[in-house]
Amino acid sequence: MAMTIEDKLGLNRFNVDSTPHIQIDGEYADQTLKERLVMACPAKLYRLREDNTVEFSYEGCLECGTCRVLTGGRIVKSWDHPMGGMGVAFKKG
Ligand code: SF4
Repeated sequence: MAMTIEDKLGLNRFNVDSTPHIQIDGEYADQTLKERLVMACPAKLYRLREDNTVEFSYEGCLECGTCRVLTGGRIVKSWDHPMGGMGVAFKKG
């Protein structure tokens, strides 16, 4: 049986850096951009709280850069790869 995307993502390993490699402004005002960001992250690391601020967890980041490109300096205030040897280790491409 073919593996689903979720099955493949579940094989990845993360060496989590204690310092977040992405910083956000969760109180940014543009509601449409916030909703797009929540939908765009393939790892589902962004979430809209009931008060419409954005919650973010960096630990499962796939380092794809989508959030950085999508927001262009808005919401995602700084983006970098984790320190060498840290972050995601892909197991199935
Ligand atoms: S780099 Fe990719 S996986 Fe990581 S938080 Fe941004 S969109 Fe999500």
